[in-house]
Amino acid sequence: MPHSLQALDRAHHLHPFTDFKALGEEGSRVIERAEGVYIHDAEGNRILDGMAGLWCVNLGYGREELVMAATEQMRQLPFYNTFFKTTHPPVVKLAEKLCALAPAHLNHVFFTGSGSEANDTVLRMVRRYWALKGKPDKQWVIGRENGYHGSTVAGLSLGGMAPMHDQGGPRVPGITHVRQPWWFGEGRPEGQDPEAFGRQCAAAIEERILALGEEKVAAFIAEPVQGAGGAIMPPESYWPAVKAVLAKYDILLVVDEVICGFGRLGEWFGSVHYDLAPDLMPIAKGLSSGYLPIGGVLVGDRVADTLIEEGGEFFHGFTYSGHPVCAAVALRNLEIMEAEGVVERVRDELGPYLARRWATLADHPLVGEARSLGLMGALEIIDPVSGERFDKALAAGNLCRDISFRHGLVMRSVGDTMIIAPPLVITREQIDDLVTLAREALDETARCLAPRVADEPQPEERSA
Ligand SMILES: *Cc1c(COP(=O)(O)O)cnc(C)c1O
Repeated sequence: MPHSLQALDRAHHLHPFTDFKALGEEGSRVIERAEGVYIHDAEGNRILDGMAGLWCVNLGYGREELVMAATEQMRQLPFYNTFFKTTHPPVVKLAEKLCALAPAHLNHVFFTGSGSEANDTVLRMVRRYWALKGKPDKQWVIGRENGYHGSTVAGLSLGGMAPMHDQGGPRVPGITHVRQPWWFGEGRPEGQDPEAFGRQCAAAIEERILALGEEKVAAFIAEPVQGAGGAIMPPESYWPAVKAVLAKYDILLVVDEVICGFGRLGEWFGSVHYDLAPDLMPIAKGLSSGYLPIGGVLVGDRVADTLIEEGGEFFHGFTYSGHPVCAAVALRNLEIMEAEGVVERVRDELGPYLARRWATLADHPLVGEARSLGLMGALEIIDPVSGERFDKALAAGNLCRDISFRHGLVMRSVGDTMIIAPPLVITREQIDDLVTLAREALDETARCLAPRVADEPQPEERSA
């Protein structure tokens, strides 16, 4: 059965972010069902989902309340649009709930079907805002290298993923990228501590603003912690310095909460953890725990008031903006998170627990750094012989990911950075399992890579 499914998959299905030919040769892994923090594949393996689906299944799998919310709403009103002055109960209640959970100055929400659409909306809104303010030249948006803001044309343009930029021709004009605050990945600059490095990365934003002309810069967009880039927590000095720069030149702050929102870092929003007070917050993923697709943009009063009072019609929206079934499920999801104290548990108990357990992996020979915040963690894989990265051709990260999957843990690789972001309902015992499985995967990865090191001719030895 799985084999025939794999054959059909190969024959007809073009997967996202996939080398089609390579996948066709290997065959895809068929996931059939899931419960709690575990997924089950067609071969009968139970696998601990260390990535919460794709950073989204925050409440875990098999939540009957969410199934019921969808079923009831489908019966009541499966679809109606929110264009042309119409609305429906679930979207109103969800908007109200989101604004109650968000920082006090964010009191409006524009709904979309995904995080990418949310960032398309962001781009339209910031440029519209400045036009309405009589500053139509404020058009430039500054993003970051290795930032991720989705895969529509606007999303990939705002993001700073070089491989995405290399495909698909010209991007949206008026978007530029500055260096990322990734201490390990930027080579741990010598003679600097991470905090000085963080301040330097913030200074790079100011330099870019001055190079472009402050009267031309509309907004800065960033994730609180870079997710897809490799679970990159910036040095503590970074965000306060960034905020000061943006305030100095009156530039809007867009904080992409698609991953960090809804408890991942132990607060409802990453912006709360880092005290960011953003003007706009794109959201998606954990909003519905991934049970149905929904995204949106939380809009601060400054921008919302202008769009409302001075904007006239905003020619923008999606058929599925505020889809009633998705909204009903998202609302239920947030209610459950509140009722069960999920976010507080991540902040007070599970996040600190993961931090202690995850840090124990730092003594592994392959690990150059182990870091975590809330329920997001990363391991930097290095060659124990040189202390530097392995040769890219070895694809050590992908090797470790595949081994980990076979051992029963979904860990993702981004280059040679291994990342985890498990469901927020994971238990301490399951965190112990996760760390044990991660260590096993590292051990086997080391064994696979070791013969290569031993077999290589050692020039010094031969000449000696
Ligand atoms: C996943 C992601 C997006 C894109 O969301 P989609 O729903 O896949 O379009 C945008 N921003 C961040 C930070 C993300 O992680």
